[in-house]
Amino acid sequence: MAKTIDVMSLYPKDMNIYGDSGNVLTVTRRLALYGYEPRVTAYNQGDPWPEHIDMVLGGGGQDTGQKKIIDDFFTRADALAALAESGTPMLMICGMYQLFGEYFETVDGTRLDGIGVIPAHTIGRDVRMIGNLVEHSDEFGDVIGYENHSGQTFLRAGVGVRPLGRVDQEGRGNNGEDHTEGARVHNVIGTYMHGSLLPKNPAIADFLIRTAAENRYGEFGTADQTDAQAAELARLDKVAAEARAVAA
Ligand code: GLN
Repeated sequence: MAKTIDVMSLYPKDMNIYGDSGNVLTVTRRLALYGYEPRVTAYNQGDPWPEHIDMVLGGGGQDTGQKKIIDDFFTRADALAALAESGTPMLMICGMYQLFGEYFETVDGTRLDGIGVIPAHTIGRDVRMIGNLVEHSDEFGDVIGYENHSGQTFLRAGVGVRPLGRVDQEGRGNNGEDHTEGARVHNVIGTYMHGSLLPKNPAIADFLIRTAAENRYGEFGTADQTDAQAAELARLDKVAAEARAVAA
């Protein structure tokens, strides 16, 4: 019997712009092609908390979306922090990346406290950072996507958080000043990359999948994968590599 992996999609109603739901689709598809059985639960405000969570995926959103979810988000802060600390793989894009940090002061001066999983803070400013984003990550190679945010994010120095990548060619990244983009702590990835991110950057999808399988089953195995599934994964990887070659 195929091994189940439980994926939680965090606030897809309010935190899902520029195709971020494509990340959920990509993880689901790749899990199935590796021979696993993906089980996706959407968590929106007021929903029951899933019993088992192997991976958490969160998308971007407008400041208004962030304000809408913030109260409910706080009721789940301890659960999410505990999952992060115990090594659950998580991908948080843009608006959710900001709220996984310590606080986000929006451009209208509203302070939204974050849950502090990522030691970083974000300050909204009038000029938005919009456009294609290309970065290099030591872990994942070239990563490509699209950014659109008012918030400038600053990682806290000296506490073990590192950027996801370095923006040398195209884009603004965390703040348009220090060339950093995104954040890595535990098995959590925060990033400004929309696009969707994962279809074009399968190395990141596979990091999330491998980590989830290792945490739950002690190893990442592909015993249930068919040859046709392996061939389809290779095809998807080739398409993604071509997209990255054009951009990078
Ligand atoms: N509202 C946030 C900002 O503008 C996040 C935007 C986003 O998720 N694209 O900085």
